[in-house]
Amino acid sequence: MKFENLNLIEPILKALNDEGYVSPSPIQEQSIPSVIEGRDLIGCAQTGTGKTAAFAIPIIQKIHEQKNKGSKRQIQSLILTPTRELAVQIKDSFISYGRYTNLKYCAIFGGVSQKPQTEALRRGVDVLIATPGRLNDLINQRQVNLQNVKMFVLDEADRMLDMGFIHDVKKIISCIPQERQTLLFSATMPSEITKLINKILINPVKVAV
Ligand code: AMP
Repeated sequence: MKFENLNLIEPILKALNDEGYVSPSPIQEQSIPSVIEGRDLIGCAQTGTGKTAAFAIPIIQKIHEQKNKGSKRQIQSLILTPTRELAVQIKDSFISYGRYTNLKYCAIFGGVSQKPQTEALRRGVDVLIATPGRLNDLINQRQVNLQNVKMFVLDEADRMLDMGFIHDVKKIISCIPQERQTLLFSATMPSEITKLINKILINPVKVAV
């Protein structure tokens, strides 16, 4: 299997070639077509399996295609992840895979000043990558508009639970449109996560690697 067989657009194939990626990893091969099709998805996968590209590549492709139809810059995809390190890594992955598109990404997380983050939000963002606590703060201060989110990713859902973020996560989900695509990644599936899955995903494709 090659990336060329996954119906990806030229700007993404070119970026993957720059990265030196030849073949999709199993989670990428199984997830990318379903995400492009618009399906909800559960990915049972750990860090190191290539799960970031499994969601980043189809998200970039879908937003890029919408942009070509003239849609404005607004937050169309929200990625929630438990830690600052993951937020920065995910943003860097979007920048790499999206380098031949004209999308804007922003990572927001706690422990640092809000100002550069709110300024970046005001300049316009297509994909927002956030940790739950800081995002909730910015929602409460009305610094962020999530009304146009069409693709929502909950990354490392089990770690979110372990770190005590589940309440923040549920609050954030109540602030995004119900009509959306949802992707949930988790290394383990404790019962709290299956309950959440039943609540927030519709007829999901399941991928386990
Ligand atoms: P992740 O599981 O998303 O944290 O990715 C783990 C590492 O694998 C990252 O350093 C990626 O750059 C790399 N990677 C992801 N997909 C591929 C691929 N298809 N071919 C080669 N390396 C990859």
